[in-house]
Amino acid sequence: MHEVSIAESLIALIRRHLPAHQRLVQATVRIGPMHGIVPEAMEMAWNIASADAGWKGSRLIVMTPPWRLRCVVCGRCWEPVTVDEHCVCGAAHVEILGGDEFQLDSIDVHSAAKHRRRNTARHGRGRPRTFTRGVAHEHQSSHR
Ligand SMILES: [Zn+2]
Repeated sequence: MHEVSIAESLIALIRRHLPAHQRLVQATVRIGPMHGIVPEAMEMAWNIASADAGWKGSRLIVMTPPWRLRCVVCGRCWEPVTVDEHCVCGAAHVEILGGDEFQLDSIDVHSAAKHRRRNTARHGRGRPRTFTRGVAHEHQSSHR
């Protein structure tokens, strides 16, 4: 469940961009496939970590850019389906160009002046008790 530490890293990152006295409604991030994020686990980790941060009910949208490979033999670049693909020239020596992206694309904030539409349907969204406990435990152990 490294999604918990990813959620905490994202919160630290977002805090640096969040205007004073505003709370996060939605964040869009770009996380490369190298990080191996499981969407369901990421959502649960986010629900807990963002509530701790005071942004209960905020949404996290994760964009996953594709892998990019470059053939060491012919120089061809492409976006493979799986990262262990060989080049069409037959070469198995490929270099991984992307996949490790970790960046904040945009944030939507809530302030008194400007009400963004909030997806309230996601508020009490299912958090299976067993899973929540597991996450909470790992969350505690990764805390100081
Ligand atoms: Zn090639």
